[in-house]
Amino acid sequence: MVFQRLIERKRDGGALSAEEWTVTLADFMAGRIPDYQMAALLMAVVWRGLEPEELTALTEAMLASGDHLDFGTWPAPRVDKHSTGGVGDKVSLVLAPLVASCGVAVPMMCGRALGHTGGTVDKLEAIPGFRTDLSRWEVERQVQRIGCALFAQSAAIAPADGRLYALRDVTGTVPSLPLIAASIMSKKLAEHLRGLVLDVKTGSGGLLLELDRELELARTLVAIGESHGCRTVALLTAMDRPLGRACGNALELEEALLALDGQGPDDLMAVTFALGVEVLLIAGVAGDAGEAGRRLHEAITSGRGRAKLGEVIEAQGGNPTLIDDPGSLPQAKVVEIYQARRRGFVERVEPRVIGEAIAAMGGGRRAPGEAIDPSVGFVITIKPGDHVAAGEPIASVFARDQEGARAGIAALDQAIVLGEKHPPAPLISHRVSDRGTEVLAAGMLEDRSGSRAVGR
Ligand code: URA
Repeated sequence: MVFQRLIERKRDGGALSAEEWTVTLADFMAGRIPDYQMAALLMAVVWRGLEPEELTALTEAMLASGDHLDFGTWPAPRVDKHSTGGVGDKVSLVLAPLVASCGVAVPMMCGRALGHTGGTVDKLEAIPGFRTDLSRWEVERQVQRIGCALFAQSAAIAPADGRLYALRDVTGTVPSLPLIAASIMSKKLAEHLRGLVLDVKTGSGGLLLELDRELELARTLVAIGESHGCRTVALLTAMDRPLGRACGNALELEEALLALDGQGPDDLMAVTFALGVEVLLIAGVAGDAGEAGRRLHEAITSGRGRAKLGEVIEAQGGNPTLIDDPGSLPQAKVVEIYQARRRGFVERVEPRVIGEAIAAMGGGRRAPGEAIDPSVGFVITIKPGDHVAAGEPIASVFARDQEGARAGIAALDQAIVLGEKHPPAPLISHRVSDRGTEVLAAGMLEDRSGSRAVGR
């Protein structure tokens, strides 16, 4: 097989056979196809897409590239959650320990930053000593012992996604529906799950930008999951503004700890509870949404969710006292307060500008494997629809030097648009399952989960 002929065929709108995808993946993993040729093929897929049979073949080849977790006959319900990625999206850090403390086993394989979006692995690695490179055996043992492990792809588990993900991050090949679907499902189907709950981000800070594409992605993910016997539900949630207030690895961890202490921002709690309710229902540890919401609420007020995160941190090499002392996380050297340039309503807080600024300030990669500075980022305290006075402090920039702080301020000037009052887009707009697509009335899932009782 001459690989450049396959690149040309995809470039010109043709399809690769299932066997060609299988051989391509195997050759890439064995080092017989260099990164530059694989990047060219990925770019052709960005433009031309994949036929359904090609997506199946690619997903299966990626899934077969490594080991699968195997919990044998262990009866605990295993359910995971995954997001297509956003800015300020620290839901996994809150949800995983919360649902684990409610009796769900969560073997959560997470990703690093991708494009302008942040990654749970990078957030966790802000914790001094925390290991995300667990072996298959370590994951299985930890999940059976404490109910939760938060880990990265490795040479053993989902290695093809690990390599392709890192390559896509630096070659402009992230925004492709089939590449996103294959990436997510090849990881998640290797986890031996009963069910999977997906958070598909919509809006200018999401990956696909158009609602009909995001709905198609959600339906594709659900169909792949269900075809493998994994109960799969997707919620579409707003990413036309950052989620919560903190954006940046260490800052987001700190906000996740606040959320587990009942002090999380309303929007973060609403999305976490809506997804958490789906997790508890699929796991069968709650009979209906009301009961699931009450259990999540109780996991926060009792401190059990927070304690569970402490157990995970300790099991993976970090110091569990971090949950009481977030000051031990990496701290930025320069902190600048940002004030509203004039009075008016917040029309937009553009997440993509914020995510790209974090990367430029040292929080993202330009080459696969590059080290990042976890301390940089923003805390933005306003939301679309809020009214601000001229000179009011509305954000803080966390940078490693004055130059980074200046870049952060310039990004806020660009991202925060003041003007007229517009109603913000609904936070949770659709629910996709094997029964079809429901359009949700504003606030519907927040009401059923009771998240308003714990948000701020
Ligand atoms: N999350 C993933 O795991 N992969 C993608 O491609 C996008 C989001």
